[in-house]
Amino acid sequence: MGKALIIGCGGVASVAIHKCCQNSSVFNEICIASRTVEKCNKLKEKLQKTTTTKITTKQVDANNVEELVNLIKEVKPDVVLNLALPYQDLTIMEACLKTKVHYIDTANYEPEDTAKFEYKWQWAYRDKFKEAGITALLGSGFDPGVTGVFSSYALKHYFDEINYIDILDCNAGDHGYPFATNFNPEINIREVSAKGSYWENGHWVETEPMEIKRVYNFPEVGEKDMYLLHHEELESLAINIPGIKRIRFFMTFGESYLRHLKCLENVGMTSIEPIIFEGKEIVPLQFLKAVLPDPASLGPRTKGKTNIGCIFIGKKDGKERKIYIYNVCDHEECYKEVGSQAVAYTTGVPAMIGTMMVMEGIWRKPGVYNIEEFDPDPFMDALNKWGLPWKVIENPDLVD
Ligand code: NDP
Repeated sequence: MGKALIIGCGGVASVAIHKCCQNSSVFNEICIASRTVEKCNKLKEKLQKTTTTKITTKQVDANNVEELVNLIKEVKPDVVLNLALPYQDLTIMEACLKTKVHYIDTANYEPEDTAKFEYKWQWAYRDKFKEAGITALLGSGFDPGVTGVFSSYALKHYFDEINYIDILDCNAGDHGYPFATNFNPEINIREVSAKGSYWENGHWVETEPMEIKRVYNFPEVGEKDMYLLHHEELESLAINIPGIKRIRFFMTFGESYLRHLKCLENVGMTSIEPIIFEGKEIVPLQFLKAVLPDPASLGPRTKGKTNIGCIFIGKKDGKERKIYIYNVCDHEECYKEVGSQAVAYTTGVPAMIGTMMVMEGIWRKPGVYNIEEFDPDPFMDALNKWGLPWKVIENPDLVD
């Protein structure tokens, strides 16, 4: 039982906050703090009458360490859940360190001006967190997040050694717009317009954006085109899963999405280089974000399912073994339950669960850790309980 400070109040945070409020015996108090406090107040107004979790709200600029330190000192939370943007990871970690409070996030740090995400900046905090006696749990969303938990669960229960992992992220939802992104457009477009890469035999192999395409027949969803992307959990799994020879990440994209993205790229709208427009400096991608549909508005329009999971190939008792662990989530069901589509839901639920694991002391060790470094069993049980049930298939279709 404890108090969580949740920073950010966007699509993912809204789901995590709904879930904390459903889980009042663990979250007896939450404080929602974000840049635009009106969003926090609106959510509080909707949820407070439905829950015994006490909700408070605060305004904060999470780029400012001093403001964050003052906020943490005032709120006195047991844990801080960072659901703002990846740009704020280091300032929030710094504030947690100064106040000795545990830290959880869902996305690794990315400098605003380089569009390159890597763990090195956050891993640099390992010794400081250890000395301070506090835990940082990195990447407690779905991917990264549940994909790492699936990996450690597979290693614990199905394999002596895992050699190949393919992470498949399929969103077969249709929101009816020709082009929209399912989570923060700026972060989403930075991710998919970057070069792809995968880990093989101890080194990174780089590809052009969307160069590698495969078709996969997803359980409960059907056949979809998917493309190889770089994704942040590849970096930590390559280190934390012993015996690994190759890890790849594929995400599905529809034809309309890719056509629009190519066109926006060709005209320079996805650039993060500032330009001068009518005497004012603007970043084209940030301007694009402002004219695209707000991901939060997709909830009531989106139909269909997501299927996210991992295919593992490895050895058990000297023999080759292949399994697929995945979750299927229905956009309309998510909307009925928490007023959000499945992409926010599949991230917000594991964010709540990871926070619960650290707050309850089930997962706690001083230092900075990726999610696959903890015992997967309690998290896997919690996924079934809190809305993201998973399945295991032996001998699935493989990706060539
Ligand atoms: P949104 O843009 O919907 O929400 C971000 C929130 O952070 C907004 O409330 C925003 O405030 C707030 N914020 C931004 N900057 C600041 C600041 N300086 N100080 C305080 N608050 C700030 O994003 P999402 O909810 O879609 O994504 C949230 C996080 O989840 C991101 O880091 C994203 O990368 C991650 N994610 C992880 C996934 C996974 O599976 N691991 C999948 C999807 C997302 P304001 O309302 O004022 O804009």
